[in-house]
Amino acid sequence: MVSNLATLEEKIVAMDVWHLSMPVNSRRDHGIGTIANAIEIIVVRLTSESGQTGYGEGSPWSVFTGTPEASYAALDRYLRPHVVGQRLNQFSDTMAICRRAVVHCTEAKSALESAWLDLSGRILKQPVWALLGEQCRSRIPLSVSLANPEFDDDIALVERLIDDGVGLVKLKTGFKDHAFDMMRLEHLQTNYPQLTVRIDYNQGLSVDEALKQVPEIDQLAPSFIEQPVAHYEYDAMAKLRSMTKAPLLADESVFGPHDMRRAIKEEICDGVSVKIMKSAGMMQGMEVAQIAGNAGLPAYGGDMFESGLAHLAGVHMIASTPNITLGCEFYHATYYLNEDLLILPFPIEEGEVMVPNDPGLGMEIDSSRLEKYCQVNSLS
Ligand SMILES: [Mg+2]
Repeated sequence: MVSNLATLEEKIVAMDVWHLSMPVNSRRDHGIGTIANAIEIIVVRLTSESGQTGYGEGSPWSVFTGTPEASYAALDRYLRPHVVGQRLNQFSDTMAICRRAVVHCTEAKSALESAWLDLSGRILKQPVWALLGEQCRSRIPLSVSLANPEFDDDIALVERLIDDGVGLVKLKTGFKDHAFDMMRLEHLQTNYPQLTVRIDYNQGLSVDEALKQVPEIDQLAPSFIEQPVAHYEYDAMAKLRSMTKAPLLADESVFGPHDMRRAIKEEICDGVSVKIMKSAGMMQGMEVAQIAGNAGLPAYGGDMFESGLAHLAGVHMIASTPNITLGCEFYHATYYLNEDLLILPFPIEEGEVMVPNDPGLGMEIDSSRLEKYCQVNSLS
């Protein structure tokens, strides 16, 4: 992979970093926390000697992967010395150094990888998916998550989704009480039989709660059930998997390839949510999906609270990763942010994300919005 970068002798001459706060249209409750008012993301821009630029986004969540402050510091202070001055064909070596230069901060490393491949693709006039491997799909089914504590507002969203041709929804559960979860799942299944409904607890249950509640949810036959318990509860995940008919997905329990190998060995899941913000980028996300596929487990294209810029990186990864067969959840740019970073609408048609074919990530960001939503920035 990325062997076609070998001809790129151009050096990176500048690295700019922004911490943005981007307003959203509603409150969303998950098993591990709440988002209201705005999401916080980090944007990095790399500039080459010829003046070409490439962008990447880190999308942390303090209760899940980490904080925006940590991502910002990782890029601005700890990774910058390893990046500026490097030639673009030193991608693999540089990413390996960056993985060791600061622990965790997977979102920052994902943002850097995305910006590097966006810039490289623009110079080579190739889409990022072509740098990653063979294209295996050009459209990806979209799943939209329902997480509003006001269920009437989610029903209004469901009506809009059906009008838009979206057929997959993921009901966020485990943030209020079991009766609320059962009521919402039954309501969706009764009134919208055309929808495929998935369940995601986001670690919201204790082990005792999960052993009681998850089998009852399973009786209603959702399409899959994701991460009922805390990420470290591998034994409980394995036990729940043996109790449910619906496939059990791991999300927070699996960040990178090492977790995936352990999850397979301990038989904790029937599938996995792959996210570039967990795996420190597209390359390692592909590796997670491949390890899962070798064990016969399908993968899902998850995300954090992101703008369309991070969604694009996820789209290019899935376009070249055969085993991510369960669709993606890149809906925030379209259905959640008041305004996205991309100039043109994020490409969704009839409930599917369209894979861009233009060079790099394939879409342009509105750089004036970097200033509009900026909390802190560091320009070289
Ligand atoms: Mg999840």
